[in-house]
Amino acid sequence: MTAQTKPLQTRISAGRGTELRCRGWRQEALLRLLENNLENAERQEDLVVYASFAKAARDWDAYHKIVHALKNMDEGQTLIVQSGKPIGIFQTHKMAPLVLMACGNIVGRWATPENFYDLQEKGLMIWGGLTAADWQYIGSQGVIQGTYEILSQVAREHFGGSLKGKFVLTAGMGGMGGAQPLAGKLAGAVILVVEVDRSRIEKRVAAGYCELIADSLDQALTLVKEAQDKGIARSISMVGNAAEIYPELVKRSITPDVVTDQTSAHDTLFGYIPAGMGIDETNALRKSNPTEVRKLALASIAIEVEAMLAFKRNGSIVFDNGNNIRSQAAEAGVTDAFDIDIFTARYLRPLFCKGIGPFRWIALTGNPEDIHVIDQLVLDHFPDNDLATNWIKLAREHIKFEALPARICWLGHGERTKLALLVNDAVRDGKLSGPIAFTRDHLDGAAMTHPRIGTEGMLDGSDAISDWPLLNALLNTASAADLVAIHSGGGGYSGYMTSAGATITADGSEEAAQRLSTALTADTGIGVLRFADAGYSEAQETAKDHKLGL
Ligand code: NAD
Repeated sequence: MTAQTKPLQTRISAGRGTELRCRGWRQEALLRLLENNLENAERQEDLVVYASFAKAARDWDAYHKIVHALKNMDEGQTLIVQSGKPIGIFQTHKMAPLVLMACGNIVGRWATPENFYDLQEKGLMIWGGLTAADWQYIGSQGVIQGTYEILSQVAREHFGGSLKGKFVLTAGMGGMGGAQPLAGKLAGAVILVVEVDRSRIEKRVAAGYCELIADSLDQALTLVKEAQDKGIARSISMVGNAAEIYPELVKRSITPDVVTDQTSAHDTLFGYIPAGMGIDETNALRKSNPTEVRKLALASIAIEVEAMLAFKRNGSIVFDNGNNIRSQAAEAGVTDAFDIDIFTARYLRPLFCKGIGPFRWIALTGNPEDIHVIDQLVLDHFPDNDLATNWIKLAREHIKFEALPARICWLGHGERTKLALLVNDAVRDGKLSGPIAFTRDHLDGAAMTHPRIGTEGMLDGSDAISDWPLLNALLNTASAADLVAIHSGGGGYSGYMTSAGATITADGSEEAAQRLSTALTADTGIGVLRFADAGYSEAQETAKDHKLGL
């Protein structure tokens, strides 16, 4: 953490109700989303939201200045934020974004983890993750449908459509990984999650994301077997290090049906805990000898990935779930690490080709009933969209809200705009208690270039071209989104990723309807065109159907 970071005296939570602290709902919405990030944060005292060190602001001084700026700026002004630090407010115009951000961007040749850590230590930049620095994080509920859809696709492709009685092994129960046990259970599987930090497991159990904590590997395996035999879906967790548990299972000739991992392997300094080490011991070594921690973490990741490869050889379906674990293992000398598939190219790309991706909305007054009203709008207005209606029914029954009530739902090109306009009308007509913010994950359409995650194995070889997220962000700005962000880098992600994020608020006004219409349509439109341009026929057909492109 940077030297300026100071512990906080009182816990921050998102503003609720209809009383405004800002000069308009658009500004208030962004302020509440920033606070909501922190209410959901894994380590609020350090401004760390998720993914081991993805931060909401540069430091507490920057945080308070951002809050002050949002409270005092007018419509027609734009706040500029550089890697979590507010720089200035410019006079723009009423349809311009209120906030523009760039975070974690280092030019190509300098974009190494070493340079990033150095710049972070000097207090010059932060890693924003995908949703932390641009205030779009909604807790584990933000990723859960993605994890569920991957597992459902695994079921369709490899297990005749059902994971009933199938054993899914994974690791990591942090901000995003914490969604895995519930997603696995909803997909019908028996899922075992290995997590080194007991407090993370307890947090997810309390939040309703995991049912059982086993006391040992033996007990965990007994619970898995019992549930498999009975054919019931079950979520089980255990305290353990994946670099120890995975090889132990290989040694015992136990072959799960599906294996993945969502530890924070993308970062060997602040993220992954090396085998044989406790949390406190690792934290101490991070301070006294960071080079040694990185070496030990990398060696452990290599051991874990070797075990994942052994599972694959033994018949498991194995995939990387977006934590860069294969790249780290390859760096440590595991030459066949990329024999493991990446979840995007393998399971989700056909959806992105149609503009379908992780779309989200947040009830800004904090009223859960607003989300239920929107759930019903989805069910009523998209009756033929099985993916969306199936998910909304599951989410309504099984997912508890975290902080401000929110929902994720993978809607496609045209559908997002249609829903957002219906919601804007409902705000105007008083059918909702107040405005709703719309956003999406950076892992969407054209919004992410990450040649080891979002854009691996593109048909035309355009995996590393980061023009797309930059164009996506420019287009978000031109089409009047409320907040637009360009993110890159960070630890093991340095040099791997550039991505774009956008947020738009439905406050019931005519201008909001115009913004939602132009921004959401352009956002998915460029996503479809990115895949159409790369030669994907599903995207070319979608582009043709919607008259997108030249
Ligand atoms: P996090 O830092 O909040 O949690 C990581 C968890 O892993 C922690 O609880 C930590 O204790 C645990 N852990 C670390 N080393 C371990 C080990 N050796 N064995 C067992 N547990 C260990 O991170 P997060 O927000 O949950 O994100 C996890 C990863 O998933 C990141 O790499 C992130 O970039 C990636 N991610 C993927 C997607 C996706 O769409 N697939 C989305 C978001 C994030």
